[in-house]
Amino acid sequence: MQRTLAIVKPDGVASGLIGEVVKRIEQEGLRIVAMRMEHLTRSKAEGFYYVHRSRPFFNSLVEFMTSGPCVLMVLDGPEAIPRWRALMGATDPQKAAPGTIRRDMATGIERNVVHGSDAPDTASYEVNYFFTGTQISS
Ligand code: ATP
Ligand code: MG
Repeated sequence: MQRTLAIVKPDGVASGLIGEVVKRIEQEGLRIVAMRMEHLTRSKAEGFYYVHRSRPFFNSLVEFMTSGPCVLMVLDGPEAIPRWRALMGATDPQKAAPGTIRRDMATGIERNVVHGSDAPDTASYEVNYFFTGTQISS
């Protein structure tokens, strides 16, 4: 059993894609155990993407992630981390496999609609970054 963090990024929310993303998560058989909308502050977005702080795209990424509300979700299921990453597709939508969220809906390498944790340690950190235990259904 794994737990992972999923985000519908501001481009996805603005484009009316929340329902489509949620539908794909549920059809995959992953369980949504927490969900809320949040417009990230600059410091919250900077903290979330702290590992990327030295990358050339960091400031632009933080601008983008604070440009409108996100939908934050916690997903549970067997192999939830790789299964959610597989639904998302590669970071660059042009390299993402057909049928993935990013290939079908993303408009660029930055504006790529969704986020997913990439490993058990980052998943645990990211879930706890946004949710407390009592906000997650068992
Ligand atoms: P995420 O962490 O959002 O799930 P990811 O793990 O596929 O995506 P990362 O390498 O962790 O990709 O990059 C985090 C985010 O930074 C990407 O989703 C994208 O929005 C942005 N990003 C990554 N690489 C670039 C780039 N070369 N140019 C612009 N933005 C980028
Ligand atoms: Mg990442």
